[in-house]
Amino acid sequence: MTAAVQPKFLITQPIPRTTTAGSDWQALVQMASEASDKKNMVAKLSQPRWETKFEQELFEKWRSEGIYRFDRNSGKKFFAIDTPPVYPSGTWHIGAVAHYAAIDMTARTQRMRGFEVLFPFCLDRNGINIELVVEKKFKKHLHEFERQEFIDLCRSEIDKISSEITKLAKTIGMSAEFDDKSIYYETDSPEYRRITQATFIEAWNRGYVFEDFRPSYYCPDCGTTIAEAEIFYEEKPTTLNDVKFIVEETGEELIIATTRPELLCACRAILYHPDDERYRRLDGMHAKIPLYDRAVEIMPHKAAQMEFGTGIMMICSYGDQTDIQLFRELSLEPISAIDERARMTEVSGKYKGLKVKAARDAIIEDMKSAGLLVKQETISHRTPICERSKTPIEFIAMKEWYLKQLDFLDDVRAAADKMTFHPARHKQILLDWIDGVTIDWPISRRRYYHTEIPIWYCKSCGKAHVPPPGKYYRPWKDKAPFDKCECGGKEFVGEDRVFDTWMDSSISALNVCGYIRDEALFKKTFPCSLRPQGRDIVRTWLYYTTLRIGQLMQSKPFEQVWISGMGLDQFGKKMSKSKGNVVDPNEVLSKYGAEAFRFWAASEVNIGEDFRISEDRISGNSKFLTKLWNVARFISMFEVKEECRDLAPSDRWILSELNDLIGACSKGYDDLNFFVPSNKVRDFIWNLFAPNYIEMVKHRAYKGDASALFTLHRVLRDSLRLLAPICPFITDMIFREVYGRSVHREMLPQPVKEWSMEAKPTEDILAFNSQIWKQKKDAGLSLNSEFKAEVPASLKPFMDDLRAMHRLT
Ligand SMILES: [Zn+2]
Repeated sequence: MTAAVQPKFLITQPIPRTTTAGSDWQALVQMASEASDKKNMVAKLSQPRWETKFEQELFEKWRSEGIYRFDRNSGKKFFAIDTPPVYPSGTWHIGAVAHYAAIDMTARTQRMRGFEVLFPFCLDRNGINIELVVEKKFKKHLHEFERQEFIDLCRSEIDKISSEITKLAKTIGMSAEFDDKSIYYETDSPEYRRITQATFIEAWNRGYVFEDFRPSYYCPDCGTTIAEAEIFYEEKPTTLNDVKFIVEETGEELIIATTRPELLCACRAILYHPDDERYRRLDGMHAKIPLYDRAVEIMPHKAAQMEFGTGIMMICSYGDQTDIQLFRELSLEPISAIDERARMTEVSGKYKGLKVKAARDAIIEDMKSAGLLVKQETISHRTPICERSKTPIEFIAMKEWYLKQLDFLDDVRAAADKMTFHPARHKQILLDWIDGVTIDWPISRRRYYHTEIPIWYCKSCGKAHVPPPGKYYRPWKDKAPFDKCECGGKEFVGEDRVFDTWMDSSISALNVCGYIRDEALFKKTFPCSLRPQGRDIVRTWLYYTTLRIGQLMQSKPFEQVWISGMGLDQFGKKMSKSKGNVVDPNEVLSKYGAEAFRFWAASEVNIGEDFRISEDRISGNSKFLTKLWNVARFISMFEVKEECRDLAPSDRWILSELNDLIGACSKGYDDLNFFVPSNKVRDFIWNLFAPNYIEMVKHRAYKGDASALFTLHRVLRDSLRLLAPICPFITDMIFREVYGRSVHREMLPQPVKEWSMEAKPTEDILAFNSQIWKQKKDAGLSLNSEFKAEVPASLKPFMDDLRAMHRLT
């Protein structure tokens, strides 16, 4: 056979045979089988195989060409992405890396749909995590450092971790903005912090901020008040102690079960259920607290559970959430038994200074020897735990600043209803959380490496003064920006507390869109188009953002919310250092490359679902890249035909299949579900296009048949476009070499109306091909050998192609 196509160069290497998984013997039928006959043809795709080393060369090329550069003056419609600011802490979790790869796919999808995409890379550098790193390294508690020194240490530590994270983000090919300081951001920069402060000042001016002395969740290890959203509950074994009280008026014994005997000193009341016949007669009497010379009133209340323990309960400040509610409801005066360092206070008597657990052990011993302890049993107790330090939290009353949230829950619900969720069912996570919110949000923290609360207090009258928005304020070191107070006082003292870091994170969308910084941009981009985020931070990041932006803007924060699942190990278990099942993303990426990783992240992760991470699965995905390269390299031998009026039946057929593929992928892209396009394109190329169609038409292609050349290139080009958001490296390299430009400046393909076909011959063609392959194999013939068989009447339009493909005689 001689080729009608004019060779440009001499081929120097044979076209490699695709290696496949080996399970699908059909796939072994390769288009390169007779490559040796075509030595005078040349592939435009010069490299014999796809190699991971091409990835970083391409990445640098994209950056130098400014291919993803955001143009704020663009005439296109804008699409702003509120990229989750990465929290740099040690090695990046491989599940998170997969998550960011998918977020990059959302950005690329929108670019290829004609939007001007605002896609910042960003780091969330404020917070307790980095403080704990410094405390641990220098073996000193933060309050033992000089404040500025501690801040400097935090900054230098986080700089180190940040650069590793940024490097990794570039390795996976993120098309985000890393350089332009008006887009890229860090939450600990003066620029970002001034915006956090400005939003606080705005909330202050609207009366949403108040100070109160009330019990809050307090983490003894973090040394600060924390919010409801920062705790989780765990069933933990604990001892239930039956303790002997004496009724003052009658002298009789009253047995009360408690898990917190160390709080006896803070007991204010004894409750029984109003229906409980056993105790009605005690109404209004008093019970003497064991070990303490004090008696408290006995009263009926529905909070007492008749079937729990003896049916009598003691109310202390504060054992749990119920205690807090009852103190409020019964107007009891709280007693502070535990201080900010989680040690017992004066009121505990001899236990003063002991940590809570030690005090509990000591008081139990003392009651045992005094004969006051009747019984002990181990029960499972639902214990609130600090999300960060995993320490059981305490309820301690402290003076804190609060942001109102209970008054805004309906607004948050209404905003949730106005946003499109991907997947739709994950909206419920937000709604469920809103239903469970019970207290306003304590926003002040006793830490250092955070955004400062911009308040100064008048030294004479104590009034809190808030400066005008716009600047970055550090009241702990800056001079007050006021001359005098209404009272005439001229001296001020700066607030030394800082904000909960969610105060920063909850306004990231405003910052991205240019709030305060660039009003023209803000007009064009707010509400932000997309919030991509993990399922685990719906109750914090998404909830607080919806609350805060709703308060400030009276608007939903986002058009769309995309929620991903969690990355687990290959057995479906959470990855942790202690379990030894952590997979290092650096290792995986250097072994298999970013493209295999990305294709895995798209094709094996269904939207919103948890996913298992295994090296084998990731490496397996590089097989498809090899396949794609080989198909492209084969097609690249042939001249590109842009148009063809007279299509052969086989070409019409595959173009109708291409149409369906484009339609299915578009639906997947609409839902930001990359599982769909990745699997659809792979299936199409691997099972339909390469082994069936290409084999059928290559005899025509070698002769330079216009219809075949047009179709081969059209299918390749559109497949590359369809895959470009998922596999940006390999598709771009092929596109540049074969079509002379970057695929990343292309649009996603659209179906062509004239190509659609109601009844497709696909099943008949596939069945016929399989049958012939099988018969040849059974007869011990090579697939290239001549064979005697009839093409059925139903496949008559494809007769010539099928006869040539199978060398039928
Ligand atoms: Zn004053």
